[in-house]
Amino acid sequence: MPYLDHAATTPMRDDVRSAMAPYQGDRFGNPSGVHTVARVAKNAIEEARERIAAAIGAARPLEIVFTGGGTEADNLAIAGSALFRTGGVVTPAVEHAAVLESARFARRLGSEVTVVPVDSSGVVDPEEIASAVTDQTAVVSVMTANNETGVIQPIDAIARLVRSTRGRVTIHTDAVQAFPSLPIRVTDDSPDLITVSGHKIGGPKGVGFLFVRNGTELEPVIHGGGQELGRRSGTHDVAGIVGLAVAVEAAVAEREQYVNRVGAARDRFEHDLAARIPIEVTAGGADRLVSHSHLRFPGIRAETMLVRLDLAGVAASAGAACHSGAIATSYVLAAMGIAPDVAAESVRFSFGRGDDAVSGAEAARIVAEVAGGLP
Ligand code: PLP
Repeated sequence: MPYLDHAATTPMRDDVRSAMAPYQGDRFGNPSGVHTVARVAKNAIEEARERIAAAIGAARPLEIVFTGGGTEADNLAIAGSALFRTGGVVTPAVEHAAVLESARFARRLGSEVTVVPVDSSGVVDPEEIASAVTDQTAVVSVMTANNETGVIQPIDAIARLVRSTRGRVTIHTDAVQAFPSLPIRVTDDSPDLITVSGHKIGGPKGVGFLFVRNGTELEPVIHGGGQELGRRSGTHDVAGIVGLAVAVEAAVAEREQYVNRVGAARDRFEHDLAARIPIEVTAGGADRLVSHSHLRFPGIRAETMLVRLDLAGVAASAGAACHSGAIATSYVLAAMGIAPDVAAESVRFSFGRGDDAVSGAEAARIVAEVAGGLP
């Protein structure tokens, strides 16, 4: 049955599961200890750190800070930057709630927060970001690609422009959705902070990392025993971190194949669907991740569509449905100037590494049947 909600979460890889198993069994040590059992766990974490650093081209393994997932990494990036000097935050209106709510938190702590509008495709203009940056700005946060629409932001151009006009402001990107499809590599010009989450790339849930470029000013937001060089206290999820490293390496190694297969699935899906029923592709003309297909079915409410799809065995989602399970009106679509009644007829389908043109065609057949049978 078509699972078309890989942007919400994607199945764990077999190699991830088997790499994690020993750390959920015999190798149970707390890496903060001093004895041999602890050292086994500590070594596993440091090896995972080295492997992730190498996979994304980070010069130093200690630039990888393990977190309890993407949300926590975003909180550390935004609040941690703002707290450093209660500095300001500049971010577009279409960011994930993990960024926008962290920015609101920073505002409550006294930071100046500027939320920059986007165009009708959801793309932010680098000039608008750069002109919102002031001497008070601590961090500019722009996602690599959007979780609802898959629309890709010009993050490299933004980093270049902000640095050339404003000096070395910290630049953060949330690469949670983009990681499987786009080359996320650390270079001199890339962002200083990069968020990645395990469960979106075939790793475990509740584990992720923030790349922190050496020398970036960042306050911890979780305080305690001083793990992760004091940047993130709390006993490590050793098994999760080991699994995360396997998932990161695999995503990087398989990226080209992923883009080809998943892109073929998505394109075939949209093509075949459009040939059968009326659909509108959200931001169809913009640069989008190959995995995402955000569609409007004119005249059919998303709730109705999702229930009927579920009955037909198809998993998809709508709006910002990831947190509570409820379908809230999408602030992302609203920021793009899409009317509420249009947004209410929109559904996100997202493909994963098991998909290809054949599964894309099959998905289109089933979705067309469901939508075709609806008023
Ligand atoms: N950022 C983006 C763009 C996401 O899509 C998500 C998850 O939906 C997150 C952050 C949060 O990541 P996690 O589920 O690991 O907390």
